[in-house]
Amino acid sequence: MSELRELYQEVILDHNKNPRNFMKLKVHSHHANGHNPLCGDKLELYLDVVDGVIKDISFVGSGCAISTSSASLMTQFLKGKTVDESRHYFESFHDLVTGKALSEEKLEQLGKLAVFAGVQEFPARIKCASLSWHTLMNALDSKDETAATE
Ligand code: ZN
Repeated sequence: MSELRELYQEVILDHNKNPRNFMKLKVHSHHANGHNPLCGDKLELYLDVVDGVIKDISFVGSGCAISTSSASLMTQFLKGKTVDESRHYFESFHDLVTGKALSEEKLEQLGKLAVFAGVQEFPARIKCASLSWHTLMNALDSKDETAATE
């Protein structure tokens, strides 16, 4: 566990213990399931998109601290953003966790999500951190199927 210590920063622990937006949305326009078989992370994502804006977003599921906190932070981050913006942030977040160089502007835009930069050192954890984002893309593309992290 010691090599993971640096990952478990305060923000990640907090969001794992008290995940935000952790519920099913009764009214939703988009929904998708995500599964990361390597770790056993599972989540269901719900979105209520009105006029291209993510009016509400939530998730339920069970997984490791990285996947739960990433989903929690993502829902908090994307509420009120447009669908186009969320696609842009997906690209930035993907670059962040896979260790691609990000411009300062893009890094700043990600705000708290930058805590996941540490996962680039741990390839297995990249899938945990990005599961909610892949599920988001499937939900927005209206593919009501299970997102795979492969
Ligand atoms: Zn995991």
